[in-house]
Amino acid sequence: MQFSFTPEQEAFRTEVNSFLKQHLPANWEGADNAIDEGDHEFGREFLKKLAPKKWIAPAWPVEYGGLGMSLWDQVIFNEAMGYARAPIVNTAAVGYLGPTIILYGSDEQKKQHLPGITSGDVIWCQGYSEPNSGSDLASLQTRAVKDGDDWIINGQKIWTSQGHYADWMFLIARTDPDAPKHRGISYFLLDMKTPGISVRPLINMADGEGFNEVFFDNVRVPSSALLGELNRGWYIATTTLDFERSAIGGTMQALRTLEELTRFAKTESDGRGKTLWDKPPVRHALADLWITSDITKLLSYRVVSMQERGLVPNYESSINKILTTEYVQRQQRVGISILGMYGGLWGEGPCAKLRGRFAKAYVATVGSAIAGGTTEIQKNIIATRGLGLPRQ
Ligand SMILES: Cc1cc2nc3c(=O)[nH]c(=O)nc-3n(C[C@H](O)[C@H](O)[C@H](O)COP(=O)(O)OP(=O)(O)OC[C@H]3O[C@@H](n4cnc5c(N)ncnc54)[C@H](O)[C@@H]3O)c2cc1C
Repeated sequence: MQFSFTPEQEAFRTEVNSFLKQHLPANWEGADNAIDEGDHEFGREFLKKLAPKKWIAPAWPVEYGGLGMSLWDQVIFNEAMGYARAPIVNTAAVGYLGPTIILYGSDEQKKQHLPGITSGDVIWCQGYSEPNSGSDLASLQTRAVKDGDDWIINGQKIWTSQGHYADWMFLIARTDPDAPKHRGISYFLLDMKTPGISVRPLINMADGEGFNEVFFDNVRVPSSALLGELNRGWYIATTTLDFERSAIGGTMQALRTLEELTRFAKTESDGRGKTLWDKPPVRHALADLWITSDITKLLSYRVVSMQERGLVPNYESSINKILTTEYVQRQQRVGISILGMYGGLWGEGPCAKLRGRFAKAYVATVGSAIAGGTTEIQKNIIATRGLGLPRQ
């Protein structure tokens, strides 16, 4: 097994790192965790800096505005962005919607939608979940009814990340209520400025404005909004989910936080003439995190190497998602306990250590075990498809 990258790949890493150093503010600390979105206006500006280098969607084919970058180059790019805590905006469009349009879109749809993503002008949100349809997504109730050449959409979506500033949404809606639930769903692309759409922010328990409720009241969209075949939207939507769950290179932000926590433990006094690092429980907890950090990285490399060989990772991505989620959550718990009484302080302030990052991330990362398919659903996938256990 060859674990090192080639000299060309290392040169690319250096190029990305120096770009990030040049284009991020000198004192840039980034968002507090993968779920905290930070300042989305700054995120949009940053996208415009990536665009001229074609680094918004570098893995997309050249004809669609990408660089046709190899998966390993993409890993290097994502790792550098994660470590720098660079704003990662429009993930849904770049990571999952764009590749879905490339597969299922008409030529007109490709021409209409892909350039806006690679230029950084159009931000997308994902309209899948509904108040009563999350894990059992195919039970969704939002309706789209044909009216002449148009479609009229009524219903509600929930937990819509970026819905408060997205320009467009990709949405699934029921188009045949009499068909079995998976077979009566279609996939639509719609402009968020269309009359009849209203967005209500949901503040998460970390006090962040990340996701929203979105209501559709007789929203009229043209026939060109339909992506792929009528009533085949479920199968297109699951392709989008496959792209979502195999997202790569996401643990570098956590590595940087772990480095900061380790440095802190090595230098912070325990008040009795020693450092926190001198306490065996602190060293053991950190060592455990370092080991898990390496394992999550290797598991994500396993998913990449499968994709590179043309295999479709399935339960392997689920293993990766569970382990990464639990690792990041454990990192917050360890961070808070190492900081002691200061661990509960939230945000920047004279007494907050390490920018109060851990207290906030502790609550914010609860959602990562839910977003993109809950831990229980991932366990079901591992049980049935990985271990071959019977379905309940
Ligand atoms: C931070 C965040 C961002 C999100 N962003 C988006 C977005 O942009 N767009 C979007 O459409 N959605 C988004 N979601 C929604 C997310 O996809 C759903 O929350 C998720 O699929 C779970 O659905 P639910 O909330 O309805 O919970 P439910 O499906 O009702 O689940 C409730 C509980 O029951 C368990 N459960 C359900 N079914 C089973 C089963 N078969 N076996 C075992 N246990 C089960 C679940 O694991 C969970 O613990 C986001 C969620 C979060 C937290």
